[in-house]
Amino acid sequence: MSISSTNTSPYCPLELNGKKGLVLGVANHRSIAWTVAEQLIKYGADIGISVLDERAAKKSQILLDSQSNGFLLQCDLRNQAQVSRLISQATDQFGQLDFIIHSVAFAHIDDLKNPISECSQSGYLDAMEVSAYSLLSMVNACRSLLSPGASIVTLSYLGGEVAIPSYGIMGPVKAALEAEARYLAAELGSQNIRVNVVSAGPLKTLAASAIPGFRQHLKEANQSTPLQRGVTHHEVAHTICFLCSPMSSGITGETIHVDAGRHAVRQF
Ligand code: NAD
Repeated sequence: MSISSTNTSPYCPLELNGKKGLVLGVANHRSIAWTVAEQLIKYGADIGISVLDERAAKKSQILLDSQSNGFLLQCDLRNQAQVSRLISQATDQFGQLDFIIHSVAFAHIDDLKNPISECSQSGYLDAMEVSAYSLLSMVNACRSLLSPGASIVTLSYLGGEVAIPSYGIMGPVKAALEAEARYLAAELGSQNIRVNVVSAGPLKTLAASAIPGFRQHLKEANQSTPLQRGVTHHEVAHTICFLCSPMSSGITGETIHVDAGRHAVRQF
């Protein structure tokens, strides 16, 4: 769990020096957002980290130690007052945003376990609000701060494209999220703001541990990829850094799979 503030690599293809942005969704060192935050800092970006609760804030403090101009704030994305506080802090500290990483998801445990036809209305709305609507509300709240060339990235899973029964209600939620990213790309493209999705292969995280049978699914999914392995947090984070960099300036409205090729094969 070491964090390096300087990029010691002799060849650095990703230039993020001076870029400023928000990383939403760090819970602990297993979070995808944690590795993304580490890598963005390593490539020279200043980041504001948003965490849900005090526990996550305590755990994530170490990410701040490695940057001089960052901040960490507790923010429940359902709470407009807290979102406004986050935007105020970003305005004061950064003045503009060059990227937003939306790495947030939630569903009630019963709605993950039960067949989706049994999902309660409130459970459906809660999952949609936190996991999909929050992307729209964040973009709207940050609109005036987004710089030309800014990049917005959200996280999805293959279950948003094809039915993976154990993924339950999160499948339809991710389908909505991916569609939102395409519509946002269409809306914001004229301002040179890009919006993309990274569809990651299964990774051991807090959110993933709530998915029924996740360990078995991880094992099976990783055996059936073209690369005959799973992916790492770093592989996902590197793609997100690429999407935040000028090297990806021609890519928007895209869903990039970082899943060792799992999405491309079917087993009969
Ligand atoms: P994680 O549990 O570390 O991250 C999920 C985050 O969402 C947590 O930090 C949690 O606090 C936050 N969150 C939940 N409700 C919130 C709210 N109301 N306001 C603000 N934040 C809230 O798990 P993760 O696997 O790193 O998940 C990050 C993203 O990656 C999610 O969108 C997830 O669906 C996606 N993803 C994960 C996997 C995987 O296998 N882990 C695969 C593909 C996609």
